[in-house]
Amino acid sequence: MVLKIITIPDERLRQVSAPVDLDDLNDDDFQQFLDDMVETMDTKDGIGLAAPQTGYNIRVITVSSKNGPLIMINPEITKKSITKEWDEEGCLSVPHTFGQVKRYRQIHCRFTNRRGEVKKIAAQGLLARVIQHEIDHLNGVLFTDKAKKITTEKYTL
Ligand code: ZN
Repeated sequence: MVLKIITIPDERLRQVSAPVDLDDLNDDDFQQFLDDMVETMDTKDGIGLAAPQTGYNIRVITVSSKNGPLIMINPEITKKSITKEWDEEGCLSVPHTFGQVKRYRQIHCRFTNRRGEVKKIAAQGLLARVIQHEIDHLNGVLFTDKAKKITTEKYTL
């Protein structure tokens, strides 16, 4: 099921999301929610989605990677590169808006997968950027808080 994406100024985008209780992974409804997040991300042509964008303030993000969609529960950045880089970002919850955001070029991230296994990944470039953007959502931070040269497109697709 494709979930509804909430947009600014919805207050839920500004809340700090709660960690997922790993017992919930045994719950069919929760597993269905994870599938719905991936389906929503794919349908909306997003490269990442955070649960608060669907109105649920829990620490779950999905990102698309070259190996397919990655579901990350309670993600935490454990290591950051010294170097940062600027690039353009947008967000389904901040429609028609783009801006340049400075992000760490490489990160290490620890998370729990949908089977309850703790995983670690090293990410760089776009994948690292998307993970940082989505984890910001879990802390109530939007890319426009950090962006330079913010532009708003007048016309919708
Ligand atoms: Zn976003």
